[in-house]
Amino acid sequence: MKKYGFLLLFSYLLCCQRLAAQQQFDLETVFRQINAEVLSHSEAYTRLGESIQQIGHRLTGSPNGSKAEQYAFDLLKAYGFEDVAFQPFTVNGWARESLDLRIGSSGNMQPVKAVALASTPASASAAGELVDMGNGLESDYTANPDKAKGKIVLAALNLLPGSPEGAKNLHRSAKAALAIKYGAKGIILFNSVAGGTLLTGTASITGDLLTIPALCVGLEDGNMLKSRIAEGKQEAAIEMKNKAGKMQARNVVARITGSEYPNEKIVVGGHLDSWDLSPGAVDNGLGAFSVIDMARTFKALGIKPKRTIEFVLFMGEEQGLLGSKAYVQHAVSAGSLDQIRFMLNFDMTNDPKSYHATLEGSRTLFEEIGRSASMVDTTFKGTFAASAGLYSDHQPFMLQGIPTGGAGGALSREALNCYHADCDIFALINEQQMRNTVRFSSMLIYGLANADAIPVKRMSDTDIKQLMLDNNLEESLRLGGDWRWD
Ligand SMILES: [Zn+2]
Repeated sequence: MKKYGFLLLFSYLLCCQRLAAQQQFDLETVFRQINAEVLSHSEAYTRLGESIQQIGHRLTGSPNGSKAEQYAFDLLKAYGFEDVAFQPFTVNGWARESLDLRIGSSGNMQPVKAVALASTPASASAAGELVDMGNGLESDYTANPDKAKGKIVLAALNLLPGSPEGAKNLHRSAKAALAIKYGAKGIILFNSVAGGTLLTGTASITGDLLTIPALCVGLEDGNMLKSRIAEGKQEAAIEMKNKAGKMQARNVVARITGSEYPNEKIVVGGHLDSWDLSPGAVDNGLGAFSVIDMARTFKALGIKPKRTIEFVLFMGEEQGLLGSKAYVQHAVSAGSLDQIRFMLNFDMTNDPKSYHATLEGSRTLFEEIGRSASMVDTTFKGTFAASAGLYSDHQPFMLQGIPTGGAGGALSREALNCYHADCDIFALINEQQMRNTVRFSSMLIYGLANADAIPVKRMSDTDIKQLMLDNNLEESLRLGGDWRWD
């Protein structure tokens, strides 16, 4: 009996090994097709360049934003998707109109180049003494609580050289909130990137309009103002006009219906919207047009995966993940949230070498997919890391307990310096690296959509809370008003 049992076990192991080997072979066969298709026919780089030329920036709620939505829709149709749809939603939109910043001594006020941060007032007129609040952290105010009252604050966006050890920087929106708390009439933040680079982004924690003007000036101007304040009294005058109010935006959703499990869904997302100072080539033309090209690749190869894949171009990410929140809300209302088995997000994903996911339980499957991908191209390492972070379109899915993940990559220093800045232009995009994003991410999508089983399930509320605590995300979620476990 013992011997027989051993034989049974032996033949069982042999069979499983064969099965695993067969699966690996099947995966590799499709991966080789994906690889060849992307390397010879990828349109990601060209289409991004073309859209930038034709449209420019893709600010949510603006005419440009609407053109970008239509461009993505038409392109997906042209790639053969019958099932493409707009998913409209309403946002508290914001668009800059005019800004005039003058600094000097009374009778000799000189213009300084500046941009408004998003969510600043529709109309503001502020004048007063300019005071240097260092890093603009709470400790800078508590050291001299009345210093900012009735004044206009100058503070650094990033920590100044020589800042106390262990000082933790705050988001620009938190710095604006502190200026308001300590009675300032306005806040001018200066960038840390050389060359007069101007940065935008939202200055509001809650998404509501600020009560004071908040703007950004370049590094050199910031340093010049700091030394002039040190030498003597400086006055600042700000006049700003912006457009704010309810605006319409549309996510774009293209679907391939699964052959075996049509009610199980892999959502592949990337935000199409950008800020308005530049065409947002890296943030996130890179991710959005990579996602569109992943969709093209699946259609070109006629891939019919077991599970449904939805390729989603989100709008409103920059204003606070508005498009992905609308998508999730829609799924909650439709009772279809449990159909989403995985969400893969591509935000500034460039030249990936590895995969990642929120849950450690995804490791075996992701490593198997990674191994097959690295068989096709050894420059792809195929390693896996489990981690959870915030501030992109996976967040609303993650907070509903849906497993999320993606592909890990790297950007040049030059590209990182232009984050949210006026220099985020097409010249920062590397065609070959963008193609790598498309091919290795398409392999991950296929691996998930076609897996016999996905080992991780939607988390319970208790498990979501634990995941957030384990990843040190409580404070950030509280600041954003997204902590729900009190
Ligand atoms: Zn982004």
